[in-house]
Amino acid sequence: MKKKAIISACLLGVDCRYDGGSNKLHDAKLRELKEKYELIPVCPECYGGLTTPRIPSERVGDKVLSKTGTDVTAEFSRGAEAALYLAKLFGADIAVLKENSPSCGSGCIYDGSFGGILISGDGVTAQLLKENGITVLGESSI
Ligand code: SF4
Repeated sequence: MKKKAIISACLLGVDCRYDGGSNKLHDAKLRELKEKYELIPVCPECYGGLTTPRIPSERVGDKVLSKTGTDVTAEFSRGAEAALYLAKLFGADIAVLKENSPSCGSGCIYDGSFGGILISGDGVTAQLLKENGITVLGESSI
């Protein structure tokens, strides 16, 4: 039986990114992933109740703020909880998540200045999944 893996829906080609686009992986990479895992798509920002398109957000300390200053911490947390719920429901102990995102980024995220500067850190969902023993991989490491 194949292992189950959570995957950022935008990596599968779902147009759920903040600007209404996706981050679809190359077909060969997708095929490889599908051969190895049963994939469970999640978009934490959508699950948290944010619209697509939406104003981009970044982590700022303990909060997540949109570029216009709205506090969207609760929405990001709700989305992370939903992703964790699905991971547990399906028994997924691996997650393939979009790098650098304030939700899905693992190891590197933007610094909260909206200036395109990356710093060490995890997105809200990646952090929660890791805290619950789930291995998080970025798309460039698969
Ligand atoms: Fe992709 Fe994650 Fe952003 Fe949704 S929250 S668009 S899955 S990176």
